[in-house]
Amino acid sequence: MFNKVLIANRGEIALRIHRACRELGIATVAVHSTADADAMHVRMADESVCIGPPSATQSYLNMPALISACEITGAEAIHPGYGFLSENATFVQVVEDHGLAFIGPTAEHIRVMGDKIAAKDTMKALGVPCVPGSDGAVTTAEEAMDVAADIGFPVLVKASAGGGGRGMKVARTAAELPNAFASARSEARAAFGDDAVYLEKYLGAPRHIEIQVFGDGKGRAVHLGERDCSLQRRHQKVFEECPSPVLLEADRARIGATCAEAIAAMNYRGAGTIEFLWENGEFYFIEMNTRLQVEHPVTEAVWRVDLVKEQIRVAAGLPMSFDQATLRPEGHAIECRLNAERLPDFAPCPGEITAYHAPGGLGVRMDSAIYRGYRIPPYYDSLIGKLIVHAEDRPTAIARLRRALSEMIVDGIDTTLPLFDALTRDPDVEAGNYDIHWLEKWLAGAA
Ligand code: ADP
Repeated sequence: MFNKVLIANRGEIALRIHRACRELGIATVAVHSTADADAMHVRMADESVCIGPPSATQSYLNMPALISACEITGAEAIHPGYGFLSENATFVQVVEDHGLAFIGPTAEHIRVMGDKIAAKDTMKALGVPCVPGSDGAVTTAEEAMDVAADIGFPVLVKASAGGGGRGMKVARTAAELPNAFASARSEARAAFGDDAVYLEKYLGAPRHIEIQVFGDGKGRAVHLGERDCSLQRRHQKVFEECPSPVLLEADRARIGATCAEAIAAMNYRGAGTIEFLWENGEFYFIEMNTRLQVEHPVTEAVWRVDLVKEQIRVAAGLPMSFDQATLRPEGHAIECRLNAERLPDFAPCPGEITAYHAPGGLGVRMDSAIYRGYRIPPYYDSLIGKLIVHAEDRPTAIARLRRALSEMIVDGIDTTLPLFDALTRDPDVEAGNYDIHWLEKWLAGAA
């Protein structure tokens, strides 16, 4: 096992990783920008290193500074968290070239899954169901028209290098296709320096259901069920639950086994998420995330595992501490993402927290790095905390969430807290009756 781990992140996830290290008896090194000198992850860590000015490009994305921080402190491994350098294959290569361990998958797996065309080809070959579409890249508008005629409108033009919903255009009719094709390409070229695009059938009202997988890098792998993350605003997840209110045990077992087999065949190492759209009882692969997800705690609650400790174990070459037969899900978990944003327009709202009280009690977990007197810097993501509840069943989890929300106090800044109380009282949410467009429609109606 490692003696010392460097945490290449900030905020709640840096604290989350620190906690796992502490319990494993591993010393931690926090890194921070000058804007984060007072951050909780810096206070909690055994050591800290300032790696640059506020801009993420010069600090949390600064590879030479991170490697130097390891060399100065003697850290043997780097946990990247999510975002920043977590899915950067070059970074993994640099880390390993310096004789350090990367707590995550190999550079090659990150590279393949970061290229959506290659990812889809790989998954298709491994028997994972995909959205009908073009066979690889589409290079001309004429070719796009042929593919669309084949799969039927509406279609979606997607950037192979895409992320964050960029480089993605819908064409509802043949007349819209040339434009959608050209603008997806130019957006992709501008955003990612790569204009490769492909075509997919556009699904009208799917749910977002993702499968948590975990591999030891040596051909053993398991699945840890699904998370339903259909409640989204602008492709950003807002409210996530495990299990999905719509999946039957047999569906879970079938798609879970398919994913675990694919991951085992790839010799995938560590935590990963295979994302699907789900419509009319069918799963359609859209992408794989080769990192820990923001919403991982709902899986941890129901499947009773510590995904971060497990990531560290396999990165250190130890065997996984669970197998499919010993994993037994129990109950229902829900996560709400608390953002420092002003409703109704979700405008970022940095500033000083003048009062903070976190909810507690049975089945309540609060992952956050805020404290009274903390000043949220304006430079980074607006996520300031995650409230996770777990209970024996979904109605009890919703009641517990409502209760926990009523205990929470965050003063001094605006947050998305009021949104969640309203959501837990909505009949559609109570019934689990929503698709990926539901929240935006609901927000438009509520505004
Ligand atoms: P990104 O990496 O840019 O987030 P994804 O492939 O994960 O791209 O897709 C982002 C979102 O776009 C999905 O969560 C879904 O809302 C929508 N989407 C993607 N593919 C399709 C599709 N074939 N049909 C309908 N919606 C889609």
